Amino acid sequence: MIPMRNAERTAIGVDLGEYNLYTACPARMPDWNGVYPIRGNEYCARLDEFREQVAALLGSECDRETIVAYVEHRREALLERLTDAAHEICEYASAYDRPVLVTEDNHYQPDLWAWLTDPDAHRGTAWLLPTAHLRLRAVAAEYGLEVATVPEAYSSQECHACGVIGERPLGETFRCTNSDCHVDWADADYNAAKVLAQRYYPGRRCAYRPSRSGPTEEHSALAADGGSPQHQQSQDPELQQPPRSPQSPQEDA
Ligand SMILES: [Zn+2]
Repeated sequence: MIPMRNAERTAIGVDLGEYNLYTACPARMPDWNGVYPIRGNEYCARLDEFREQVAALLGSECDRETIVAYVEHRREALLERLTDAAHEICEYASAYDRPVLVTEDNHYQPDLWAWLTDPDAHRGTAWLLPTAHLRLRAVAAEYGLEVATVPEAYSSQECHACGVIGERPLGETFRCTNSDCHVDWADADYNAAKVLAQRYYPGRRCAYRPSRSGPTEEHSALAADGGSPQHQQSQDPELQQPPRSPQSPQEDA
C-alpha cells in the first residue's frame, strides 16, 4: 500500500560520503545530467591535515587550553564549509515540486576528538558523515524541507535500475553484474543517491534477485531488508539494520 503523501512527493536521495560530501539525485531522473555532487577531496585533505597538526601540537609543549582553542577554531571552519554545502543541496532540492530529502539512517554520533586522536578512527564514520548528516538536517529545517531516512544497507552496492547487488571494482565506480540490465557502469555515488531516493517509495526499491554467482549471506540480508522500505519504519535501527558489509564501511558511507 503506497501512502499518497509519499507518492506525491519528489524524493531526492542524498548520499553522504568522502569523495563527494553530498550527492543529490531524484528517484525518477532519467539520466545523470541533473545529479548534483559536491566534491569532498579538498575537504578530506583538510581533515587529514588537521589531524596531523593536532598530533604535532599534542606532541609539543603547547598547553592543553591552546590546543583546545585551536581545535575549536578549525572545527568551526569545517562546519561552515559543510553548512555551505548543505545550503547548495537544499537550494538544488527546492527547485523540485514537493521535494523530500532522503538520506540513509546512519546513526553514528560525531566525535571529532576520536578522529583527531584515535589511530583506529575512520575519518568518515568518526566525524564527517554524522556531521554532514546533522548539518543537512539543520539547514533543511531552515528551508522547510523534510528529511526522511531509509535503510542504508547496500545502498552503495545495489543497482538503481534492476536492484541486483553489483560490484565496486574501482572504488568510485559501480558495475551492475546483471546481464539483462541496461546499466553497465555508473558513478557509485550517483547510483547510491538514486537508490536512496527510490527507497522512499514503498515497493519501488530493490527488485532483488540473485546474481549469477548465487545467493550469499549478504544477499539474504538484503532480501530480508527489502520488505520494508517505508521510511516511517526505519526509525528503529535495531529492527532495520542488517549486518554491515564487512569489507566496505567506506563504500557504505
Ligand atoms: Zn542493473
